[in-house]
Amino acid sequence: MSALPNNDVPTLLVKIFGKDRPGITAGLFDTLAAYSVDVVDIEQVVTRGRIVLCVLVTEPTVAAAGELRATVHSWAESLRLQAEIISGVGDNRPRGSGRSHVTVLGHPLTAESTAAIAARITDTGGNIDRIFRLAKYPVTAVEFAVSGVETEPLRTALALEAAGIGVDVAVVSAGLHRRAQRLVVMDVDSTLIQDEVIELFAAHAGCEAEVAAVTEQAMRGELDFEQSLHARVALLEGLDAGVVEKVRAEVRMTPGARTLVRTLKRLGYQVGVVSGGFTQVTDALKDDLSLDFAQANTLEIVGGKLTGRVVGEVVDRAGKARLLRRFAAEAGVPLDQTVAIGDGANDLDMLNAAGLGVAFNAKPVVRQAADTAVNVPFLDTVLYLLGITREEVEAADGDAEHEH
Ligand SMILES: [Mg+2]
Repeated sequence: MSALPNNDVPTLLVKIFGKDRPGITAGLFDTLAAYSVDVVDIEQVVTRGRIVLCVLVTEPTVAAAGELRATVHSWAESLRLQAEIISGVGDNRPRGSGRSHVTVLGHPLTAESTAAIAARITDTGGNIDRIFRLAKYPVTAVEFAVSGVETEPLRTALALEAAGIGVDVAVVSAGLHRRAQRLVVMDVDSTLIQDEVIELFAAHAGCEAEVAAVTEQAMRGELDFEQSLHARVALLEGLDAGVVEKVRAEVRMTPGARTLVRTLKRLGYQVGVVSGGFTQVTDALKDDLSLDFAQANTLEIVGGKLTGRVVGEVVDRAGKARLLRRFAAEAGVPLDQTVAIGDGANDLDMLNAAGLGVAFNAKPVVRQAADTAVNVPFLDTVLYLLGITREEVEAADGDAEHEH
C-alpha cells in the first residue's frame, strides 16, 4: 500500500454527474477497485435529485490508467451518467490561514445578495472553500467556509454589506471552538417572547402609555435602566397579585423559540435567560422550557398587592453581563464559548461579554455593536449561526418522538 501522495504523485480526478439513485457510489468504487488505486479525497453533493460525485485517486500505471478511463466511462454510460476524468498531480492546495464560517440568512436569499456577499469575501482576500445549505425553512440559510482572511476584518466587511442588501450574515471563527459552544443565554422581553412584560402588567394597571414611553427611552439607551425600572414598577403599586397569573397566560412566545430551546437542549447545550423583567414570569418560562438558568427582577407582593417596588438584586445592563459570567461558571463553560442573544441596549454588555453576541431584531444601537444580527422574526434561525442544520433540528425532533 502506498502512502498518501505528496504533491508530485500523479492522481486522477473522477467526476460523476447525473440523476441520483442508490448504488452510484458503490458502483463507481467497485469499478475503481479493479485498478488497486488509493482514495485521496471524496466529495459528494445532491441538489434537486442530481448527484455530483468527485473522487480523487492515485493514478495506476500509465497503461492501466487508459483502461481505467474506458471502464469508468462505460460504467457511467450504462447508468446514463456523465463522467469526466482529469489527470493531474497531488491533492488540493492547503487552505490558507484564517478560517471562518460565514452564515448567510435570506428571506428570500436572492442571487443579487449572494453575488454581493461572495464579491465582498473576494475583496477581503478570502477564498470560498466550501458552500452548503443549512436550511430552507423558515429562511434560506447557507454557509460558506472561508480561508485566507482573518475573522475580524471579514466580519466587519460583511456586516457593512449585509446591512445594505437586507440579508443577515454571521461570521464566526472556524475550528474546535465553535462546536465547543455549550451555553446560550437569552434576554426575555422582545427576544424569547414577543412582549415587554412590564407593559402587560401596565395594561392591567391602566398605565400602558406611560410605561411604554419610559420603556422605549430605556431601550434606546436614553435612560438609565435601573431608574426607569423603578419608575415603571412604581406605577404598578396597589395592583392585585392575581394579575401575575393573567400576565403569564398573556405572554406570547417568539416564533421558533421552542424549537431553538428544544434543539439546543437535545444537542447538550445549557440554556438560560436573564431579564430586566420579572421572576414572576421568567420562573414560569424556566419550568415550561426546562431552562437551566433564569434570573430577573422580583416584584414585591405584600398582602396580595404589588407594592410598586422590586426586591433583591436588580438585573440591569451590567447585571445581565454579570449573570452570563455566573451561569458560565456554574455550567463549567469558558466565557468565550458562550452565546448571548438580545434586542435591547441593556443587553449590550452581555452580548459583548459572550463569545458570540447575537442582536435579535434589535434596535440600531444594539445591531451595530453586536458580533452579528438576525433581522428575521424567527428565533430558531440562531441555530444556523451555530452551524446546526435544519436536518439536525428535525432529526432531533424525530428521535424525541420515538422516545414517547
Ligand atoms: Mg429585550
